[in-house]
This record gives sequence, C-alpha cells and structure tokens, in this order.
Amino acid sequence: MNTSAPDTGENVPPLEGGLVVTQIPIYTLNGVGSGAIPLTVGCQSMRVRCPSCKGEVETSLLTAPTRKTHLCAMTLYICCCWPFVCLPYFINYCKSVQHYCPNCGHFIGSYSF
Ligand SMILES: [Zn+2]
Repeated sequence: MNTSAPDTGENVPPLEGGLVVTQIPIYTLNGVGSGAIPLTVGCQSMRVRCPSCKGEVETSLLTAPTRKTHLCAMTLYICCCWPFVCLPYFINYCKSVQHYCPNCGHFIGSYSF
C-alpha cells in the first residue's frame, strides 16, 4: 500500500499590486542623490520636496548676518537712523538664509542678500 501525500508545491499566485504613484505638482528638486543643484530659494520659508527624505516639507531657516547686514546697519547708523540700526539683523532679507529640511536636516538651498 502506497499512500503518497499530496505534494504541496510552491504554487503561489504572483502578487501584482497595482501601485499607483500620484505626482503632486510642487517644486521637485533636481533628481536624486548627490549632485543635486540647490534650488533657488528666497528669504522666506518655502514648501519643497526634500531630495533626501522625499517628503513634502516646509523648509526650516537658519539665518546668519553677512557683511552686507553690517553694511546696512552701518548705513543706518551714518544716516542717524539710530532706532533702526539693529533692524537689518532681524530682517531675513538682509541676511544670508539657509534652508534645511525639518525632517532629515538635509540642506535645501541658500539665499543671500
Ligand atoms: Zn528631508
């Protein structure tokens, strides 16, 4: 008597997931990986797609005063605009602004006055 057990072969049906990628029309940074050209950014926080984590993020800003910021302050000082001397240090427009991804900290681009 030969009772052969039914062979359970690997009969797995191929899973074909209908992957639909929807494209959101926002700023797409140059391609993938390194070598991406930094996007032209302004002095305000802006909405971009991070090339590193691929997330749609609002850039976080890191500002630093530049020589021109001091120059602005000095000009105001010379023009006797005393109360406004420190103004250039508070306005992003007069400073160098660096945009970073708040998720992964990837450098997005920089703006300078
Ligand atoms: Zn990121």
